[in-house]
Amino acid sequence: MSDIIFLDRDGTINPDPGYISSVSQYQFFRYTLPALKILSDRGFQFVIVTNQSGLSRGLIDKINLMEINDYIAQTFRENGIELLGIYYCPHHPDEKCNCRKPKTQLFHQAANDHQFNLPGTYIIGDSYKDIKAGKSLGIKTILVRTGNGKKTEKEIEKDGEFVDFIGDTLEDCTKYLLSHVKIQ
Ligand SMILES: [Mg+2]
Repeated sequence: MSDIIFLDRDGTINPDPGYISSVSQYQFFRYTLPALKILSDRGFQFVIVTNQSGLSRGLIDKINLMEINDYIAQTFRENGIELLGIYYCPHHPDEKCNCRKPKTQLFHQAANDHQFNLPGTYIIGDSYKDIKAGKSLGIKTILVRTGNGKKTEKEIEKDGEFVDFIGDTLEDCTKYLLSHVKIQ
């Protein structure tokens, strides 16, 4: 079985200008695809889990989010990067759903859909919600300082919370994973 990495989307694999509403606004960080390709070649598989409350706020149309998801999936495929799926929460925080991170429903759904165990997986994200979801799941947590990451780092420090690694960019996180994880 491959190792699974849950990836947050905004602020982690792409810049987060807030509520990206069309595929023309979507772009990966320049290092995202090369970094993920290296991990994919080493046997990692990816699942994107993203909060998209812009849907319920009326700021993003579902058809446009589907186009963005297609673009991400196609780009991963063209680059030979193993993406198992993109899971998104469409709800507003006030709706108190079970899928908006830090809630963990989407992680369990992905594990069920793709028949993998959650223990031993990783999450990489820039928000405290990503880290809290990872903590609830008991998986390894990696904070990236892009997006909201620097703010999150301060909050984590204040709380005395522990994360397995903090990297300046996804590229740094890749280097950490390559040096700390042995894949058969
Ligand atoms: Mg994020």
